[in-house]
Amino acid sequence: MNDKQAKEKIDRLTDLVLYHSKRYYDQDEPEIEDYEYDRLLHELISLEEAYPQFARGDSPTKRIVGQVKNTFEPVEHKVQMGSLQDVFSDEEVFAFHERVKEQIENPVYVVEPKIDGLSVSLEYKDGVFVRGSTRGDGFVGEDVTLNLGTIQSIPKKLKDPVPFLEVRGEVYMSEESFQKLTEEQEIREEKPFKNPRNAAAGSLRQKDPAIAAQRHLDIFVFNIQQIEGKTLSGHKESLDYLCRQGFAVSPSYQSFSSIEQVMKEIRRIGENRQQYSFGIDGAVVKVDSFEQREKMGSTAKYPKWAIAYKYPPEEKSTVLLDIQINVGRTGVLTPTAVFEPITLAGTTVSRAVLHNQAFIDEKQIAIGDTILVRKAGDIIPEVIGVQDHDSQRPVYQIPDICPACGSPVFFEGDQAAKRCQNSDCPAQLLRNLVHFASRDAMDIDGLGPSIVENLVSAGLVKSPADLYDLTLEELSPLERLAEKSGSNLLAAIEKSKENDLSRLLFALGIRGIGQKAAKLLAIRFLDIEKLFIAAEEEIAAIDGFGEIMAQAVAEYFSLNATRSLVDRLKKAGVNTLSLSLPAGDRLAGYTFVLTGTLPNLTRAQAGAMIEEQGGKVSSSVSKKTSYVVAGEEAGSKLTKAQNLGLSILDENGLLALLNGEMNVE
Ligand code: NAD
Repeated sequence: MNDKQAKEKIDRLTDLVLYHSKRYYDQDEPEIEDYEYDRLLHELISLEEAYPQFARGDSPTKRIVGQVKNTFEPVEHKVQMGSLQDVFSDEEVFAFHERVKEQIENPVYVVEPKIDGLSVSLEYKDGVFVRGSTRGDGFVGEDVTLNLGTIQSIPKKLKDPVPFLEVRGEVYMSEESFQKLTEEQEIREEKPFKNPRNAAAGSLRQKDPAIAAQRHLDIFVFNIQQIEGKTLSGHKESLDYLCRQGFAVSPSYQSFSSIEQVMKEIRRIGENRQQYSFGIDGAVVKVDSFEQREKMGSTAKYPKWAIAYKYPPEEKSTVLLDIQINVGRTGVLTPTAVFEPITLAGTTVSRAVLHNQAFIDEKQIAIGDTILVRKAGDIIPEVIGVQDHDSQRPVYQIPDICPACGSPVFFEGDQAAKRCQNSDCPAQLLRNLVHFASRDAMDIDGLGPSIVENLVSAGLVKSPADLYDLTLEELSPLERLAEKSGSNLLAAIEKSKENDLSRLLFALGIRGIGQKAAKLLAIRFLDIEKLFIAAEEEIAAIDGFGEIMAQAVAEYFSLNATRSLVDRLKKAGVNTLSLSLPAGDRLAGYTFVLTGTLPNLTRAQAGAMIEEQGGKVSSSVSKKTSYVVAGEEAGSKLTKAQNLGLSILDENGLLALLNGEMNVE
């Protein structure tokens, strides 16, 4: 390679690694596997070593690429939160040992599993947890104290309240929690996180701690960054101390005085890594003595006294037996590979998602081929490619008709997925109903996939509105819906009528409208009727909405089927108004009197909404009353208001006021 080529290659690799670092650290959405990323980084390191004159100032080999989101307060790390130097072979471990020996005599090492999560710092003052932050770029991180506070295994008070303690740990999501979250995301047709590490990072950086709490994060603590009031001389001693303080410390840590023993321990952790309920992507080897660490020092990116040995992901070949097509809630046909079962990363797998036709074409996959499968992030099986393909076998084509209803399927616009557009397709109906009833939607307890299947095959339910017409007599002959369960189900359906509009909007399954967007719609429009007359531009003007989302909403509310569904839901008594606006002060200083029966809201609901916006609700009309909200059969209060010449509103007027569509006067 000549100088020009070397410079170009370094430039290209620098840009590539920076791009993937940003996707990983800042967006929690990596595109490539960690192992591939590590290889790219190492290639860059070797090239920069050979051609130091071309190494760029912004090279990711010299600093940690991590941004601080302005959602959180910045936290300056008094002690740098460095990364670790990665190694991939035994030779590199021995080379590390040689480097250590050049500076210190008889080093003792501690070996620990490297947990695949994200690094955080926890600070304690006089034994009380006061602040927690992410690593960020190693010097400045994000204040995520509230989210960290939801992690049960973080002690909020220490057993021995030293004046100050800062520890460093790795926040992770267990495989079980990750799988549960993925299933929930699938039901909601949300983009699932790629692996538990990204799920943990995404969850810890949520604005709302309640979401972080639902995600069941956990932590292992692996280092003391700073301590006052206690002297410790080595790493193992400090981990023992942290255990006594009530922390969940690295799942195993042992010290060794020979490098051969270190290698043996690295192998042992590697062989056993599947036994843990969380991801381990390597083993960390650290010099034990703090004094010796000090002597060895650090680079701008990592300490010189430690290395991380990275294990390669496990891959296996197997025979592709079949490709099955699954029809999603929005009619998307998703192909799934069914292969000869294999054991990968400790569990037996026999299926993997093939995404879409473009994925199959790119890899030239045909039934009968020998395929290579790997577990991405050690959790989700993934087809990496074909190992043995007989050219006689045709590359698999996703069918042109829906396997569930036989209707023709089409590619829509420039989307990669084929979609069944028959709104009566039974596969779609089933998923629609499951989604409608799910916890974050209408939250109908007991209405899971198998009961929905029962109801659909008995011909009782063809639309979500049919749920509200079900009777005990209809349910009792059905399997698993004998009397008690039947009446419990009816009670849960009844209860769902009181849900807020945002739940209903999410439950309707409008394409691209997740929980958050549904909430924004509900807050902006307050009444489902307004959505039938809203212009697309009005919807697109909502902060957080894009054109495509606005188009999907406008299209959905222009359909006759939507009109009749909403009419039926309303007739059944399902609430179609927003009951919860974010608290505000729009009505501060104004007094309201409620009288008569409003068409949709109860007086208590209307009163609570007024109060949430800072308004006052009074029971008697006087000159000081700002507005009288009058419904049907309003009596003397309305007459008095008219006599005094006060402003009188109906329910719609009140909603417009709450919503900001109408100004308070
Ligand atoms: P690293 O993960 O290689 O090592 C440092 C981290 O290990 C520390 O921050 C620490 O939090 C953690 N750790 C876990 N257990 C530990 C223990 N027992 N002792 C000490 N530290 C422990 O380095 P990094 O800079 O955090 O990130 C690089 C990682 O991120 C690599 O695994 C890389 O593959 C991945 N990455 C992937 C992509 C991608 O596109 N797939 C992009 C960027 C980074």
